[in-house]
Amino acid sequence: MTKTITRRSFLAGSALLAANTLLISGQQPPASAGAADAALIADLVAAYRILAQQGVLDGFGHVSARHNRAANRFIMARSLAPELVTAADLIEFDLDGNAVDAKGRALYSERFIHAEIYRARPDVRAVVHNHAPSVIPFGVTNVPMRPVFHMAGFIGNGVPVFDIRKMFGMTDMLVSDSAKGRALAQTLGDKTCVLMRGHGVAIVGPTIQYAVGRSVYLDVNAKVQAQAMALNPNVAYLDPQEAQKIVEGGENRGYERPWELWKAKAMGK
Ligand SMILES: [Zn+2]
Repeated sequence: MTKTITRRSFLAGSALLAANTLLISGQQPPASAGAADAALIADLVAAYRILAQQGVLDGFGHVSARHNRAANRFIMARSLAPELVTAADLIEFDLDGNAVDAKGRALYSERFIHAEIYRARPDVRAVVHNHAPSVIPFGVTNVPMRPVFHMAGFIGNGVPVFDIRKMFGMTDMLVSDSAKGRALAQTLGDKTCVLMRGHGVAIVGPTIQYAVGRSVYLDVNAKVQAQAMALNPNVAYLDPQEAQKIVEGGENRGYERPWELWKAKAMGK
């Protein structure tokens, strides 16, 4: 009990500290790119709720979307459990992780994951960071995550592992500044996902639907791969060429069908 309280107060404290960094440094907050597209906002709210309902996010983890009006701005929620996020909780950020107007609210300390991926990857328009337990084993062993079924063709080029200790020594494991975010984005390279050793994963996509769909099916692939390997370590993975054809063929139809279902459920329609 004592431990829980301590950790909670610590997390709340560091989030508040982050929110106040600009005020302390006397730096001006970045200018807003203007109101984001209403459909983008609605999809981003849905993304938080969908990933919580699918068990990919729990009380932690987050989703963001690049601003439709400015490539150097992105939108994500204030520090809040994903299933509780509404449009009023969304905040605009620049690529240094500064909020345009946090209104005194606490921020996610790991927003630098998103900021630095947007900086490094112009093709990315949505990012998910989660701590799904299914993916953790593949970041802490020498077993690479590979596609075991057609829904996971998007990892056909491999899933790199980011080990924060290699560059930053002993840390609290969080990607809580720009330097750590940059190192993570470098490890991601041109791939769709990067595992974070002993922590979780970051997943990217050209739309919110892709980033959410990939997050759901990466979780499924991790479970199915572990099951297959338990039966027999000699698993017939998708060939890289098969995975490539899946991606070229529009990758699971852009996740349109499950997205429609997930969004309706998540938004109570
Ligand atoms: Zn995290």
